Amino acid sequence: MLKIQTLSSGSAGNITYVGNTTTGILVDVGLPLSLTLKLMAQANIDPHSITGLVITHEHSDHIKGVADFVTQFNVPIYCHQRFVQILRRSLKLPPHHFIATESNFIINDINVNCFTVPHDSLFCLGYTFQCGDATVGIATDIGQMTDIILNNLAACQIVVLESNHDIQKLMANPKYPDWLKRRILGNRGHLSNLECGRTIAKLYQANVSQVILAHLSEKNNTPTLAYQTVKQYLLTQGIVEGKDIFIDVALQSQIGNYYCLE
Ligand SMILES: [Zn+2]
Ligand SMILES: [Zn+2]
Repeated sequence: MLKIQTLSSGSAGNITYVGNTTTGILVDVGLPLSLTLKLMAQANIDPHSITGLVITHEHSDHIKGVADFVTQFNVPIYCHQRFVQILRRSLKLPPHHFIATESNFIINDINVNCFTVPHDSLFCLGYTFQCGDATVGIATDIGQMTDIILNNLAACQIVVLESNHDIQKLMANPKYPDWLKRRILGNRGHLSNLECGRTIAKLYQANVSQVILAHLSEKNNTPTLAYQTVKQYLLTQGIVEGKDIFIDVALQSQIGNYYCLE
């Protein structure tokens, strides 16, 4: 059995819970500890039930609350051995907080698998989590979709996938300088709504039945725009949202819906 729930998602901070009755994992703690604990309480997740943390990358919207959380609750950070030093420096934490892993590792009864994601950070990882017949996956901060990401997410029933921006809205945003637009649109930036839709059409051909759109830009996207763009693209491919596949949108300031796979 596996549960997945986004607690906060977007450019201002990201936290996702994955777990079951015996194991609790937080993917990123990108908000201050006090706010993290408030969101966990709203979601009925006891912080003492958290067995381990995994981190996607070292940008502050993914690690802001990590050091305080692991210090207060004495929870280890499971980190690919190649990235332990980077993460240690970013978090300013002593080595005993880290468990160095291979690409595949186990946290209690959950098999965790990490894979590389192209992004303008020192490292960036996506994750899949498997327990029994249930598999869920997370990939955000994606400069461009790759076969590695697609192949890993194709094994999941539920996927949290970046739908960062609407390209037209971003291009027309007078508050964003050209260099920042180029960064976001570049192949180490973020995934647009349209690219997200294209990816979901491919994932539909695999096993994926539920996608949660995530890491939406507050300035260059809206939940409705992300949902409609993805839905319309899927329709052009003959895929009907709500029938063939289900799409949900994770929000920044509100805990997400709770999904449970038996
Ligand atoms: Zn990032
Ligand atoms: Zn991010």
